[in-house]
Amino acid sequence: MNVENEKDLLNLVMTAPIGICVLDAATLVCEMVNDTFIKVAGKPYEAIYGQYHWDSFAEVAPFYEAKMEYVVKEGKPVYCEEEEMMLIRHGREETIFITFVYMPLKNKEGKVKKVAVWVLENTMRVKERRAVQELNEELTVANEELAASNDELVTTRNKLQEALTEAEINRARVYEMIQSSPVAILVQRGEDLVIEEFNQPFLEIIGRDSSIKGKPSLEVMPELVGSPVIDLIYQTYRTGEEIKLTEVPITFNKYGKPYEGYFTVTYTALKENGQITGILQTGMEVTDQVHARSKAMQAEESLRAAIDAAQLGTFSVNTQTGELNAATRTKELFGFKPEDDITVAGCLNQVREDYRALVGSIFEKATTKGERAEVDFPVIGYHDGKLRWLRNVGQVQQISKHTGSIYTGVLLDITEQVQNEQRKNDFIGMVSHELKTPLTSMSGYLQMLKINAKNNEESFTNVLADKANKQVTKMTKLVNGFLNVSRLEAGKTYIEKTRFDMADLLKEVEQESEAMITSHRLIFHPVESTHVMADKDKIGQVINNLISNAVKYSHIGSTITVACIQKDGKAQVSVKDEGIGIKPEDKDKLFERYYRANNTTTTSIAGFGIGLYLCAEIIQRHDGSIWIETEEGKGSTFFFCLPVV
Ligand code: ADP
Repeated sequence: MNVENEKDLLNLVMTAPIGICVLDAATLVCEMVNDTFIKVAGKPYEAIYGQYHWDSFAEVAPFYEAKMEYVVKEGKPVYCEEEEMMLIRHGREETIFITFVYMPLKNKEGKVKKVAVWVLENTMRVKERRAVQELNEELTVANEELAASNDELVTTRNKLQEALTEAEINRARVYEMIQSSPVAILVQRGEDLVIEEFNQPFLEIIGRDSSIKGKPSLEVMPELVGSPVIDLIYQTYRTGEEIKLTEVPITFNKYGKPYEGYFTVTYTALKENGQITGILQTGMEVTDQVHARSKAMQAEESLRAAIDAAQLGTFSVNTQTGELNAATRTKELFGFKPEDDITVAGCLNQVREDYRALVGSIFEKATTKGERAEVDFPVIGYHDGKLRWLRNVGQVQQISKHTGSIYTGVLLDITEQVQNEQRKNDFIGMVSHELKTPLTSMSGYLQMLKINAKNNEESFTNVLADKANKQVTKMTKLVNGFLNVSRLEAGKTYIEKTRFDMADLLKEVEQESEAMITSHRLIFHPVESTHVMADKDKIGQVINNLISNAVKYSHIGSTITVACIQKDGKAQVSVKDEGIGIKPEDKDKLFERYYRANNTTTTSIAGFGIGLYLCAEIIQRHDGSIWIETEEGKGSTFFFCLPVV
């Protein structure tokens, strides 16, 4: 999968103007939350992300907990519109109105895996609408009063005068109410829907000025002829039926340009003497909210599509209960069928035997110590017996006193990649192997040449033979290195563990090094008896490698110090030099195959970047660890640890 895109998509959801929060269905722990949600909640990010939902919203839990339970159990969404609730925001109790949805997100088998909470705060809107409702009621009352007054106008002369006065008072009241309303209001009269009254919010929505007064609506906005909203207005006008439209798209000309907006509107008939004489329209624009919601939904869909397209397997494990929640794709990757119920142990059992302990220990460390897990391993499919290489990346996401921690992981099928790698290794292995024979012969011929030169007292030939021999030795070392890599990768490197004393091994290395290295001052610290279960040859190889690197990457005559101490139940070996050191950015990659740090280009010291890789692999297979402390220009110390028996 293209990571950049995934990030972008996630970013879209994270910045959506609708509050989104995704909970794990089993634990109700928040796995994703965007800024808008945090804003609406009025609580710090840490109080929501990674927390049990009802811990974060304890004040409303008694009212909504059952609803959430229903969503998880029944797999059906729950919509709550403009709920009035008391929420503690920024440490204060606030009464707010919220429209929200608890949306179950299911896997392919229809099991609810997550619950998405979408929220939209409507406090302002509700307050405005309540004002409009009150206004509407007052308008109706005023209208009825008007009608009643009109009746009286017809019957009594005296009363006529009185009623007229009253009607004027009412009209003034109506006018005032319309003008002070924050909601757009329009009063139209007669068959032609002549514009009688309106307020500033209405003018702002349609982008006109007050010159529209007294004109037929369709003369002012001819673009609305034939549009469905006009039909509905006439429906109200003819039948008296009140029509409410939510988020209806309306296209009209605004400031001379076509404009499409979304509106929530109400059409109410205005009556005089029981006769419908006009239409009262109230409304507000909701374009931004509609766009925001559709954008957020698109982002969510794209994210899902991206996960599907990359065929990633996702899963989560409750570290307290051990319960595994796995996507169908995850099951597939282990060779299970979608309907199979699977467990962590069941999956681990499908990991190829030579990797099982390693994967188990990485998973264990990840779940108990919260370390990030990243591991490639082969699995044998449960039903299909197929060999697949998988890469798992995962981490414990959160810790809650209610639910324990949740490890969430992603699995990627890397079989093809591993096979290509394998082919390359086979090739390198084969070439290295083929090179060994001519090198051995060459070495033999050079020995003979040397003897011959000595016998004939040809000193120049002797010197050349020595130089050629050095080059052959160098090349043999290199070829052996490549052979070791290909053996290791083909799983043909066997670790033969025996119990031995590190003090003995260090003594042997010391004797060997002293005989070989004359260019540097070597100091071996005394070693206490420290027993380990390990492959003595391979550990010796690691120490020798670190010493020869120390020689290679430091100046002639400088000091190299080798030590082995017992620390925290481990044998810790260190090789310290006063050499060129390594830049901090190279530190993490040094142990990767074929990686050479930047210091080699500036110093032009030859090599292929396989020595440290082999060291790290050997140490890893002993359940040990290897690391470096270094400062550029000052020197480096390489450390490794092995468990003590
Ligand atoms: P090689 O020495 O053949 O390049 P290694 O795997 O042994 O391969 O080392 C990898 C890289 O680590 C080297 O290329 C070098 O940049 C750096 N390196 C290793 N040991 C030291 C050291 N003691 N001091 C400085 N740099 C080192």
